[in-house]
Amino acid sequence: MQADVIVLGLGPAGASAAAEAARRGCKVIALDRKREPGLPVQCAELVPRMLEVQSSAIRQRIDSMATFVEDDAPDVNADFPGHMLDRAAFDASLVEAARRAGAQIRLGSFIKRITPAVELADGTALQAPVIIGADGPRSRAGKAIGSVNTALVETRQITVPLLAPHAATDIFLSADIPGGYGWLFPKGSVANLGAGVSPAHKGRLKSIVARLHSSQRERVSAEILALTGGAIPVGGMLKPWGFLQQTCILLAGDAAGLANPVTGAGIAAAVHSGRLAGQAAATGKHEEYEEELEDVYRAALDRALARRRELLNSKLEKAALSPGWIPYPEYWQ
Ligand SMILES: Cc1cc2nc3c(=O)[nH]c(=O)nc-3n(C[C@H](O)[C@H](O)[C@H](O)COP(=O)(O)OP(=O)(O)OC[C@H]3O[C@@H](n4cnc5c(N)ncnc54)[C@H](O)[C@@H]3O)c2cc1C
Repeated sequence: MQADVIVLGLGPAGASAAAEAARRGCKVIALDRKREPGLPVQCAELVPRMLEVQSSAIRQRIDSMATFVEDDAPDVNADFPGHMLDRAAFDASLVEAARRAGAQIRLGSFIKRITPAVELADGTALQAPVIIGADGPRSRAGKAIGSVNTALVETRQITVPLLAPHAATDIFLSADIPGGYGWLFPKGSVANLGAGVSPAHKGRLKSIVARLHSSQRERVSAEILALTGGAIPVGGMLKPWGFLQQTCILLAGDAAGLANPVTGAGIAAAVHSGRLAGQAAATGKHEEYEEELEDVYRAALDRALARRRELLNSKLEKAALSPGWIPYPEYWQ
């Protein structure tokens, strides 16, 4: 089976890449092991308001961010515009756009190996001169060209009923949440409440989230409506292209290490880099793709990486926590 471009993964990066390459006239086959786009959801669902989102995928507005350092009163950043998504609806809308652009969408397709033929679990082998690896933090495409996310944060999140409307994202920084932070993000009548930590502390995640849940019981119910989790790459940007024999492999989104090492946010970068990768696949300009990612992301990701390293090497006392978090001026110094 032959195509111009094979896209691995149909998250925000892969769906955006498939749509862009198809719009530019390429024959695109796009694959994901998921049977339905975006499901199960593994996300806290917050995006910056400037990200273009179909209105049917928006669940509520976010206006501010409240940061709780240990048990101090929160520091409120009143200017933090965002949207809370229905992430499954968001991913589905991007996949639908790729389909409408002409990409062949194949859900329920597990990618086993890239040799550079893309070998699927059902025995099918697909070939193309360009492969876009948008297959997330543990990308097989990345592994094939030696661009691997070595630093990850592990997460656990519950969705709980929210007792009163809220328009802020609440962030919890604590020595008890090592290598990450806790969050409570409101989504209409529910909230996503979770935490991320360094992999060494993964075994503590369940009790960390349970403790956060009980500390918020004036605002949320005891009932747990959903449970999720997953890995977030926090090691910064990887080389986003390489060759496997004659096949050019481009990486986008989490596969390219574009999630922010401090906040873990990666949806907007996945959509943007996906579009650029789709464009580069169509034009063959993979070096320009790398340059564009460098221009847009390198400085911000390097700063976040430096702050993350400082935090990991500190004693995690109160005074050390705030310079490692985005609303504080010390973060930007
Ligand atoms: C708990 C949690 C909370 C988060 N909260 C936020 C948030 O609030 N805001 C934000 O901006 N970011 C958040 N992120 C990060 C965000 O989800 C990612 O940065 C974003 O999804 C990256 O998009 P992507 O398309 O690169 O990868 P993904 O969305 O991970 O998509 C990769 C796709 O590849 C598919 N795939 C992987 N391997 C294979 C295989 N072998 N065969 C077939 N298919 C395969 C997967 O099924 C998946 O659909 C969060 C992450 C986690 C884990």
